[in-house]
Amino acid sequence: MALESEVQTILTRIQSQRDEMLRQLVLWAAINSGTSNLTGLHQLGGLVLDELRTISDDAQAISVPPQLVVDQHGDLKERVIGDVLLGVRRAGAPRQAVLSIHLDTVYPAESPFQKVKQDGDLLHGPGVADAKGGLVVLLWALKAYEEYVESTGNVNLGWKVILNSDEEIGSPASREVFSDHCQGADFGLLFEPCLPNGSLVGQRKGSGNFEIVVRGQAAHAGREFHKGRNAIVAAARVAQKLHALNGRWKETTINVAKIDGGGPTNVVPDTAVVRFNVRYPAVDIEDALNAALDHIVEETEEGITLIRHGGFFAPPKPMTKEYESLLKIVQANGKTLGLDLSWESTGGVCDGNRLAALGVPNIDTMGVRGGNIHSPQEYMHCDSLIQRTQLTFLTLITLAE
Ligand SMILES: [Zn+2]
Repeated sequence: MALESEVQTILTRIQSQRDEMLRQLVLWAAINSGTSNLTGLHQLGGLVLDELRTISDDAQAISVPPQLVVDQHGDLKERVIGDVLLGVRRAGAPRQAVLSIHLDTVYPAESPFQKVKQDGDLLHGPGVADAKGGLVVLLWALKAYEEYVESTGNVNLGWKVILNSDEEIGSPASREVFSDHCQGADFGLLFEPCLPNGSLVGQRKGSGNFEIVVRGQAAHAGREFHKGRNAIVAAARVAQKLHALNGRWKETTINVAKIDGGGPTNVVPDTAVVRFNVRYPAVDIEDALNAALDHIVEETEEGITLIRHGGFFAPPKPMTKEYESLLKIVQANGKTLGLDLSWESTGGVCDGNRLAALGVPNIDTMGVRGGNIHSPQEYMHCDSLIQRTQLTFLTLITLAE
C-alpha cells in the first residue's frame, strides 16, 4: 500500500520517539501496581491520567464497587479495587473504537521483582510486557492518530480509552464499566502483549472461577470424634467429583486449585473452601457445566452443607466473520510495516472476551512483544514499542474509513 505523505511523516515521527516512550515505560514499570496495591495504582493512575487528558475531550478516574470474595473461612468479604480511567474523544463521530488495557500487574507490593533493567533490545521488569508496554503503545498511537486527524481533518472516528485496575483477577469490578461504555462500539483494540513470536491471539476459551464452601461440625478429636462432621474430608470428595468432570465436554477443563480449611490436629474441622477454575470453548457448555456443579452441591452427605459461589466471568471469544476481517486488517497493516503477523488460539482469557460478549469485535494482543509474563523473568523487546505503535496507528486509520 502506498502511504500518504502525512501518514509516512507520522510513522517516521513515531520512530524518533523511541527513547521518550522507553523512558516513560521504565518509569511506569518501576511503580509497583499489583492489583492489591491501591497506593501504587493511584500513583501510576495519576501519571497516566495526565497523559490521557492531553488527547481526550474528557478524561476521568471512575471508582468501582468492591469485589465480593470468599475468604478462607468461607465468609464473603469486600475487596477494594482501584479506579478505572476513562478517556473520551469525539463521542459523536460515526465510527467508534474502544482502546483498553489494564494498569494492574500480578506482582504485589512485597514482591522481590521490582527493578527495571535494560539489556540491549530487551527490557526486564515487572509488567513491562503485561501490560505497561501496551499502555505506552496505546497512548502514543492515539497521540499519533490525533496528529493525523489534525492534519487531514478526518473526524470520522471517535474513541474511548478504558484502563482498569483489576484485570489480573478477572476484572470483577471493572466489567461493569465495560458494559456501561462499550456497547455499540464498532471495534476494540486491547493491548495485552502479543505472543513471544509476535503472533496475535485469535480465539480464546471462556473461563469461570468458583468456590464451594463446605460446612460440617466441629468436635474434639479425642473426646467426641463421632459427633464431628469433617469438612476437609467432604471437600476432598467434592474435589474428586470436580476433577472427574474433566473429559466430559470437548476441550473443557476443570482445575481444582486450592482447598482452604482445617486447624489444630485435635479438632474435627468444620469449614473448608474448594476453589476451582473452568475453561470451556463455547458458551453453550455453560448450562451443562452449571447443571453438573449443581448436582455435586446437591449430592451432599448428612451433616455437611455445600454452597457454591462464583461464576463464568469471561465468556468464550469465538472466531466470527467480523473478528476475522479485523485480524486481516491488522495483518495487512503489519505487512506494510514489514511484520509477518498471524494468529493462534489460546485457553487464556482477557478483557477481549468481555468486549466480544458485548458484541464488539476486537483484537486483544496489540501490545508489545515479550515473554515470561507473570514471572520474575518477564521481558519485552524495546523495538516492539515502535512497531506496535505504528501498527496501531495504521490500523486506526484503516478502521476510520
Ligand atoms: Zn495482561
